[in-house]
Amino acid sequence: MVQRNKKTRQKYDILNVSPSKLCINFAMMKAVSVPGFFRMFYPSLCWQVQEAAETAIYLTFDDGPHPDITLRVLDILDTYQAKATFFCVGENVSRYPNVFSEIKKRGHRVGNHTYNHLNGWKTPLNKYYENVNKCREWVDSDLFRPPYGRITSAQIQTLKKKFTLIMWSVLSYDYDAETTPEECFEYVVNNAESGSIVVFHDSVKASKNMFYALPKILAHYTSLGFTFKPL
Ligand SMILES: [Zn+2]
Repeated sequence: MVQRNKKTRQKYDILNVSPSKLCINFAMMKAVSVPGFFRMFYPSLCWQVQEAAETAIYLTFDDGPHPDITLRVLDILDTYQAKATFFCVGENVSRYPNVFSEIKKRGHRVGNHTYNHLNGWKTPLNKYYENVNKCREWVDSDLFRPPYGRITSAQIQTLKKKFTLIMWSVLSYDYDAETTPEECFEYVVNNAESGSIVVFHDSVKASKNMFYALPKILAHYTSLGFTFKPL
């Protein structure tokens, strides 16, 4: 079970985030789901899909493509006729263009995650924008997700002219060494609802937790009549 005291502590961490910093601190806040008041500070960003009629969950996979992990994810998704969105790092696409093509061939959507997985806080606007455009040469998409969720107000203002900026409503913590596979599954299953945008990673670091949780998430929500759609 997910420990209750851990969750409470996570919520207090969010309250330490100062909106006056005009940037988003997802590394400091350890929240599984992003609360409504926080989303309101950043109305330019997409946190959740508003769709009343459907019962759909929007799975996303960041940091790929990876020649082994991504292909295994694609096979698992196919088993449940699930579609998802892959936020790809341009450098990885340049290394594994065939895996990238396979993502699209199987009916999934792709998004831009910068060329070198840059931290927006540590990167000046011009350099950040250049890197996003370099990724664009490989990833033709109008969706963008900032690596680490770290993006400044100026970067948001610039990028939103070309992209829909996608954040998330549920973070699986698949990449987190302190999160067990069972906790990773429970974080998602206890928080995802219709319209939720859920973050996983098709990366080596996240693979242990992700490969445990993903099939269980797909089975659980499929049995409840949900579908999995690309953004
Ligand atoms: Zn990333």
